[in-house]
Amino acid sequence: MQNVDAKGGCLCGAIRYNVYGRVMAAAACHCRDCQYVSGGAPAYVFVVAKPSVAITKGIPEHYDSVADSGNRRRRYFCGKCGTPLYAEDSAFPDIVSVKVGSLDDPSIFKPEAQFWTSSAPKWHRIDATLPKFEKGASKSE
Ligand SMILES: [Zn+2]
Repeated sequence: MQNVDAKGGCLCGAIRYNVYGRVMAAAACHCRDCQYVSGGAPAYVFVVAKPSVAITKGIPEHYDSVADSGNRRRRYFCGKCGTPLYAEDSAFPDIVSVKVGSLDDPSIFKPEAQFWTSSAPKWHRIDATLPKFEKGASKSE
């Protein structure tokens, strides 16, 4: 997944977006926060430059929290149906991570790495074929 040109949105259809541009990373994040927002699984995300995402319908809600990395994260979601859409990170203000599940066609995604595997519950299946990192790939490591 080197470039993306796709549409996405939430479960109820109140929010729609286009995402276009170079994909800088495609990964699964096992951190505890992502377990909350995914409903239990790791979060599958791809990272693009902030201008790559254009909201075409609705206005997402957001929630700010301090992540395991110590960075402040702002997570955007549909205020009506709760679908997680994308997130920003205070340490990387120029990029966003888009939740794969919000794409119209999530099958275009292919994870290339796994982060925060030390936070995954034992029953999570860590993909042995992919690079894994016990913590994040940020400067906190
Ligand atoms: Zn919705």
